[in-house]
Amino acid sequence: MRHSTKEIIIGQVKIGANNPIAIQSMTNTDTLDVKATVAQIKTLAEAGCEIIRVAVPKPSAVEAFAEIKKQSPIPVVADIHFDYRLAIGAIEAGADKIRINPGNIEGEDKLKEIIAAAKVRNIPIRIGVNGGSTNKDFVDLAVEYCEFFEAQKFNNIVVSLKSSSVQKTLEAYQRFAVKRNYPLHIGITEAGTEYSGLIKSAAGVGALLTHGLGDTLRVSLTADPLKEIEAARYILKSLGLLGMPELISCPTCGRTEIDIISLANAVEKRLKTVKKNITVAVMGCVVNGPGEAAHADFGIAGGKGQGILFAKGQRIKTVPEAQLLDELFKLID
Ligand code: SF4
Repeated sequence: MRHSTKEIIIGQVKIGANNPIAIQSMTNTDTLDVKATVAQIKTLAEAGCEIIRVAVPKPSAVEAFAEIKKQSPIPVVADIHFDYRLAIGAIEAGADKIRINPGNIEGEDKLKEIIAAAKVRNIPIRIGVNGGSTNKDFVDLAVEYCEFFEAQKFNNIVVSLKSSSVQKTLEAYQRFAVKRNYPLHIGITEAGTEYSGLIKSAAGVGALLTHGLGDTLRVSLTADPLKEIEAARYILKSLGLLGMPELISCPTCGRTEIDIISLANAVEKRLKTVKKNITVAVMGCVVNGPGEAAHADFGIAGGKGQGILFAKGQRIKTVPEAQLLDELFKLID
């Protein structure tokens, strides 16, 4: 059973309570390069990323962060270390959430100023404590930080307790979950490169989720962040926690009179943002298309310069080739 947590709103995304588990990643572009960072966010969002974290490492990054936030299609979290002025700058620049480790902010007064600024804009703060960042028991430390925030009458909180050890991470979240009901951001930190990191993350995140722990997740990989999104989606899908469409497409043959390869690729790309357990068929011809793919929930069967849309083997309508993609997705929506 899922651990019961408080609902928190990050931009337009609700997390915690009964909301779906949200997928996060972090940009690895230079934050000062607004164009590259926004382009990466858009690519990740298309792949299914729902919340993005961006590092704000120095004062000149605050202005860039404001512009990134304006252009981002998904909520943007500012990742802050050490300097409370960067946190306040990012909050004022429109951050949808900030992530700090209170232990590396210099002094309680500064922490209070950050909390006050977040209160004014009514945005959440993630208290992120990593096992490797302290010699103290990091669960006790996270609870102490929560007490400090609560003493400031601030409970718009998300907590993460990451470690590079799967077992330690699981124990930490289990211990924390009986003490507080704040939403939990989960993951295995510094998991590794694409292959080994993915397996370690699948083991760790899978264990947490099967214990009902986790409201947002990031699969941290030393790889292209796109791989993190794909991995997160497959982990959620394999645990039955994410509706994910299946695409079937014909191998094409001499009957094909439509650019079925481009169409199948375009459909596959757009399906990445669909969270439904549906089967979608892209078939080359009307003769065999709907018949061979009669079990598909939705489908396209190509013809000359046009195609038909079908659902469960039944023809819906004939559409010019250029409109097939949009019309298919109208039907799916
Ligand atoms: Fe050929 Fe039509 Fe079958 Fe595609 S669906 S392989 S075009 S017969």
